[in-house]
Amino acid sequence: MTDSSPSTPRILPCPQCQKPVQWRTDNPWRPFCSERCKLIDFGDWAAENHRIPGGYDDEDM
Ligand SMILES: [Zn+2]
Repeated sequence: MTDSSPSTPRILPCPQCQKPVQWRTDNPWRPFCSERCKLIDFGDWAAENHRIPGGYDDEDM
């Protein structure tokens, strides 16, 4: 059984720039609109994990 429903692809906002993104299996950057947004998001994530320990803890909520 193959899913051959001709429904239109779902449109979701890019988590990075809020641009509408077609949710297609052939979009390698899902859920982002482009490689650029994907890399930007990954950069943010990496920056969060690379915080210097023993820094300003009292500034953190
Ligand atoms: Zn984007």
